[in-house]
Formats: sequence, structure tokens, C-alpha cells
Amino acid sequence: MELSKEVGKRGFRSWYERQLIASHLYLTACILSAFGAAVFIGAYQSSGGAARGLVMLLGGFVSGIIAIHAWQRYRSMMTRAQRLADKATCANCGIYGRLGVTGASRIAHPVYDDRGVRTADDVEAAWLRVECKGCGHTWTI
Ligand SMILES: [Zn+2]
Repeated sequence: MELSKEVGKRGFRSWYERQLIASHLYLTACILSAFGAAVFIGAYQSSGGAARGLVMLLGGFVSGIIAIHAWQRYRSMMTRAQRLADKATCANCGIYGRLGVTGASRIAHPVYDDRGVRTADDVEAAWLRVECKGCGHTWTI
């Protein structure tokens, strides 16, 4: 779901809380996958046959890829959530996170398939125009 719609629908605090929970699930997946990779590589070193060794090596590789992907997702979600949270306090009345979205910029990043054919656009908000629900002050985050 698009950022401006998510924040507008749930409210900033709820969106932020969900981002923290989801990103920490990615962090948990990263840690478990890293342990899995270590176990597979350890089993590879002590494996007997070539076929079993290949399976262990493949398992270690896949676990490593999952760990890297989960780490990147964790970092991007946390960075975005923290970047917005740093600007979510109203400068006029000092209330944190009680804001409504009144506008957003949209940046389309083209998405290509394996053959290099553009299949879709991944749209994200570069900024959000928000309004304090307490005093009506508007600013950009
Ligand atoms: Zn305010």
C-alpha cells in the first residue's frame, strides 16, 4: 500500500508501530536465516557424500540469501520509519504523531522483468504534506 494512504488510513502512530513490528520480524528472520546458513555450512563440512554435501551447500546459500534480503528490508523499513518519526512532532503545539496526510509527492521507479521489459512502476512518496490534528498547523515530512 502506498505510504500516504497507509498513514492516512491508520494514523501516523499506528503506521509507525506497525513498521517497527514488521521490521523486527524481518530482523528475526535475518538472524534465524544466518543461523540456518551456519548450520548448513557446518553440516556441509562434516557431510559424507557428494550429493548430501551439495544439498547442504545449497541450503547454506539459500539461507544466506534470505538473511541478506531480510537484513536489507529491516534496514530500509527502519530508516524510513525513523526518518518520518523525526519530523512527526508539530512545531506549533508540540504534539507528536497526531497528524493527517493532506498531500504527497509520487516518485515512480520503473520495474523491469528478467528480459529487461518494463512491467510496472513502484510508486513511493518522496514527501508527505501533513496537518496537525490538534492545531491545524501544516508541514512537510
Ligand atoms: Zn499542532
